[in-house]
Amino acid sequence: MRTASIILCLVLLDSLALAQQQATPPKRIVIAASTLLDGQGHVLHNTRIVVEGSKMVAIDPKAGPVDYDLTGLTVLPGWIDCHVHITWSFGPDGKNTGAAGTTQQAAYAAASNAWVTLLAGFTTVQSVGSPADIPLRDAIASGQLPGPRILSAVEPLMGRGEQTGTPDEIRAFVRKQKEAGADLIKIFAAGSVRRSDPLLSPEQLNAACDEARKQGLRTLVHAYKDAVREATVAGCTEVEHGALATDDDLKLMVQKGTWLDPQAGLVMENYLQNKEKFLGTPGFPEEAFPVIKEMIPLFHQFMKQALKIQGLKIVFGSDALAGSHGRNAEELIDRVRDVGMDPMAALVSANSLAAQSLGMENQIGSIAPGLQADIIALDGDPLHDITAVRRVSFVMKGGVVYKHVRPSGHTPLKFKIKSG
Ligand SMILES: [Zn+2]
Repeated sequence: MRTASIILCLVLLDSLALAQQQATPPKRIVIAASTLLDGQGHVLHNTRIVVEGSKMVAIDPKAGPVDYDLTGLTVLPGWIDCHVHITWSFGPDGKNTGAAGTTQQAAYAAASNAWVTLLAGFTTVQSVGSPADIPLRDAIASGQLPGPRILSAVEPLMGRGEQTGTPDEIRAFVRKQKEAGADLIKIFAAGSVRRSDPLLSPEQLNAACDEARKQGLRTLVHAYKDAVREATVAGCTEVEHGALATDDDLKLMVQKGTWLDPQAGLVMENYLQNKEKFLGTPGFPEEAFPVIKEMIPLFHQFMKQALKIQGLKIVFGSDALAGSHGRNAEELIDRVRDVGMDPMAALVSANSLAAQSLGMENQIGSIAPGLQADIIALDGDPLHDITAVRRVSFVMKGGVVYKHVRPSGHTPLKFKIKSG
C-alpha cells in the first residue's frame, strides 16, 4: 500500500511537472515505438511519434532525442469507451448506489472511477445517465483532476409510455439537457431482454431524436427487439445493447448509417462477480442473478449475428458501472475470446471507429499528426493475445503522461488501485 502511494505521488508529480510545462512554449516529446497500431487498422514498425503541447505533430522514424522509449511494447491510440456510467459506485456499506449517490463519498468514488479508467488506457469515455457527470467532466477538462475526457448525456429520457410526455414536452426535455451541458442525449426506448416492449411511441421517439439533431446533439438509444427498428427509423444516432433485433433490423441500420453498441459480457459478468454488492439494491432481487447468467450466451449470440451483417458499424461500449470501472478492456477480451471478433477490428472499434461515432475523428482515435496526443502502450501483442489489453504500461492523454511503468518482470513498479 505504502509503495503504491509513493508510486502514485511520483506519477502525479511527473504529470504535474508536464502540466506546468504546458504553460511555457509547448515541449517537444519524442516517443519511440517498435510496433504501433494507428487505430485505423494499420501496423507500423520502428517509428517515432513527435508530440508538441497537447497534440501529435509528426510520425517520423528519424525524430530524436527519444524521451519515452516504448520499444518492445505495442503502442496505440488511447481507447474510447462509448458507454460508461462514470459516477456509479458502491457506497460506504459496500452496496451498489447506482446513479443515486450524491454524498461526499460518492464524489470521491466518481473521481476514483475516472482515475482508474484513465490508468486502464481509456482516454475518452461517453457517460450516459447522470447529471453528476458534469462537475467531474469539467474538473477533468480544466486539469483539476486526472481522468478521461468525458462526454455526458446529463439526465436520460426514460421511456414511460404516454407518461413520458407529448412530443412537444419531449422536445423541451431534450433542449433542457442541452442547456444543462449535455454532449449527447440518452434515451431508454425499451426495458430489457425480458421486458423488451417499446417504452416510447414512434412519435415520441421521433420527437426526441429529431429535436436532438436540430440541437446538434447525437442520440444513444437503449433498445431491444422492436425498439431497435423504431430507433433506426426515427433517425437516432446509435443503438445500445440491441439484442433480439432481427437481421432485417440490422440491415436497416446499415442503410440508415445507425451505429450499434452491443455488449459481449463484462457488464453481465460484473453483476455476477459483485453479486453481494448488487443484491437487494433496486433492480437486483435474488432471482435476477440466474437470469443475468442466462443472458450472457444470448448477448454472445447477438454479437455474432451482428458481426455477420456487412457494413454494420459496431462500436465499443462496455457499459462500465460500479465494479467494472478500470476493467473496461475486459469487454475487448470478451468480444475476441467469446464472440470470435477479429482482434484488430475489436481494437479499431475502440479507436477510430469510436471516434467517428462521436463525430470526433479529427481529434481522437488515431495516431496521426494534428490529433490529440492520446497514446497508450501495452506489454504484449493484443493481435495474438488479446489479454495484453490488461497490461497497460503507458498512458498519455493530451500530451500529459499519467502512467509509465516498466513491463512486468523488469521492476516491482506496479499499480494496484481498486475502483469504487
Ligand atoms: Zn448503461
